[in-house]
Amino acid sequence: MFEALADRLEAVFKTLRGKGRLSEADIDATLREIRLALLEADVALPVVRDFLSGVRERARSAELSRALNPAQQVISIVNEELIRILGGQARRLRFAKNPPSVILLAGLQGSGKTTVAAKLGRWLAKQGHTPVLVAADLQRPNAVEQLQVLGARAEVPVFAPEPGSGVGDPVDVARRGVEFARRRLHDIVVIDTAGRLGVDEDMMRQAMEIRDATEPDEILFVVDAMVGQDAVTTARAFLDGVGFDGVILTKLDGDARGGAALSVASVTGKQILFASTGEKLDDFDVFHPERMASRILG
Ligand code: GDP
Repeated sequence: MFEALADRLEAVFKTLRGKGRLSEADIDATLREIRLALLEADVALPVVRDFLSGVRERARSAELSRALNPAQQVISIVNEELIRILGGQARRLRFAKNPPSVILLAGLQGSGKTTVAAKLGRWLAKQGHTPVLVAADLQRPNAVEQLQVLGARAEVPVFAPEPGSGVGDPVDVARRGVEFARRRLHDIVVIDTAGRLGVDEDMMRQAMEIRDATEPDEILFVVDAMVGQDAVTTARAFLDGVGFDGVILTKLDGDARGGAALSVASVTGKQILFASTGEKLDDFDVFHPERMASRILG
């Protein structure tokens, strides 16, 4: 992902480096090229505008005319603005003063929530925590079993409705999962919830009920980087519905353009906390805006 964007920007900067002093026209031409590169990478239009106005303001200010190497200065402005758009400094997870901390995962079906639950559980366990995963997605066939299998592989315990107990109530399962964690002294509860293929009132209501019953310390919106502009639309809908505190990007290993997913932080004002980059349990890590920016800028 982002290879095409990286190549485009590299070409823009190459032209720029070939020049000594930069005229106003040079800067305008560069900004136009960057605009095209971002739009082609599927970055959402308001984010492109915000980004460019940030770069333009600084490129035209005294900052640039004083620079010894104006091209390098433009590149570093672009880098800093990119980091800003991606959410600035990496943010850490917030934990409850009195454990267990509750992390609620929300997102569409197929976004990678169940996989993320296991990956996050494993990541937390590696950090010295004692998480438990709660299988509150009772909608998608096999979601409970999938979480049990992934949990076993990740060596993280899973709280699930008893087999044969009927369809069950996801709100009840989530609530009992948190009680289970408290009793067994697990310090973090990660709750997997049901998604639908598209934004849907029932799904949102259920997520809100689970939220109200478990009072999460973090609600994390899980979004598939492959889905293009829908990522932005869905993020807005979840923010207005259940609300969320942070974002987890999945499938960053895909070959899509990815810009839409990178727009989610800027559009919602919520930071990207983690990124998932493959199907293996360890293909998951903290999201660092500055590392992502340098990957894109080469
Ligand atoms: P859910 O419906 O939101 O619970 O989504 P799942 O966790 O079942 O994930 C849907 C599909 O995406 C599964 O086949 C996962 O293996 C796959 N998947 C999840 N995360 C990633 C990722 O980071 N990269 C790739 N390539 N596939 C992923």
